[in-house]
Amino acid sequence: MSRVYNFSAGPAVLPEEVLREAAEEMLDYKGCGMSVMEMSHRSKVYDDIIKEAEKDLRDLMNIPDNYKVLFLQGGASQFFAEVPMNMMKNKKAGYIITGQWAKKAFQEAKIYGEAVELASSADETFSYIPDCSDLPITDDMDYVYICENNTIYGTKFKTLPNTKGKILVSDVSSCFLSEPIDVTKYGVVYGGVQKNVGPAGVVIAIIREDLITDDVLPGTPTMLKWKTQADNDSLYNTPPCYNIYICGKVFKWIKKMGGLQAMKEHNEKKAKILYDYLDESKLFKGTVRKEDRSLMNVPFVTGNEELDAKFVKEAKAAGFENLKGHRTVGGMRASIYNAMPIEGVEKLVEFMKKFEQENA
Ligand SMILES: *Cc1c(COP(=O)(O)O)cnc(C)c1O
Repeated sequence: MSRVYNFSAGPAVLPEEVLREAAEEMLDYKGCGMSVMEMSHRSKVYDDIIKEAEKDLRDLMNIPDNYKVLFLQGGASQFFAEVPMNMMKNKKAGYIITGQWAKKAFQEAKIYGEAVELASSADETFSYIPDCSDLPITDDMDYVYICENNTIYGTKFKTLPNTKGKILVSDVSSCFLSEPIDVTKYGVVYGGVQKNVGPAGVVIAIIREDLITDDVLPGTPTMLKWKTQADNDSLYNTPPCYNIYICGKVFKWIKKMGGLQAMKEHNEKKAKILYDYLDESKLFKGTVRKEDRSLMNVPFVTGNEELDAKFVKEAKAAGFENLKGHRTVGGMRASIYNAMPIEGVEKLVEFMKKFEQENA
């Protein structure tokens, strides 16, 4: 068996230890004679799995008691609709457009009410985070929406926007559990887990209790009403049982690694290796304004499309997978999520240096 260094933006690398453990438990989970895939979601065994996953997540993120943790389906993309359905009481909300995922959420919200663009970095291909200290937020807005880490463009909000007292909703899909956050600053924090937490098919939403009500937009499906999910502890219908179980294992792995502060230091160390090299290289260049750089997704280019393609091809042959940039940006992108080991980044930089010498 040989595993590659996988720089995929998502679904992405998972901790090897977690995969091994899951493999060991595949046929017989803790002596119950069946796989987690085969058991009832109403069983005691499964109830322990989902409860423990929630408890570990609460510990890791220090989630206050007045926030619910929901394990949902439909991907982050379905949640784009759930936000206005559950939150647009005045049918008006502000969106900060920092990339494609923010834009898609914005467009989805327009189906349900008045979505207002508060700021955008589209003028420079989303290569920076706009100034959000004094946005045109009005009193009648139900919430302010951001995509905190922009997976495609490699930018990250280092300070949260000034929402002028309005509720902040944040898509953290690609920076979930990469560093500590203060949950009390948000009304809703959510993300698809397939970037940094687990296998595709689960969305985790952390929602302040007072935002979970029966007062939703007319026509909201039962399944998409947060109250339905909260009242049933995410077990209204059959949840993605196996995927939640793997998320639970990843939470335990992060705890063992020292929690979110340790994760942050690990991620900063990795990102620094790559950014330092990009800053000194004569061939490769980072595409993002320095102060807005993501710790998770690092886009870079040579400035020559043919050379980019040659790099991606040779890197793949050398065991560095999924380095091709997003189709809308071109170039390369290295996603270096929690589970990417430091050697993966060190070896990638060695390989880039060699490529630079050979193609000078
Ligand atoms: C990947 C991604 C999404 C879309 O996730 P799906 O689960 O495929 O719907 C949304 N937002 C961000 C920030 C992402 O990285």
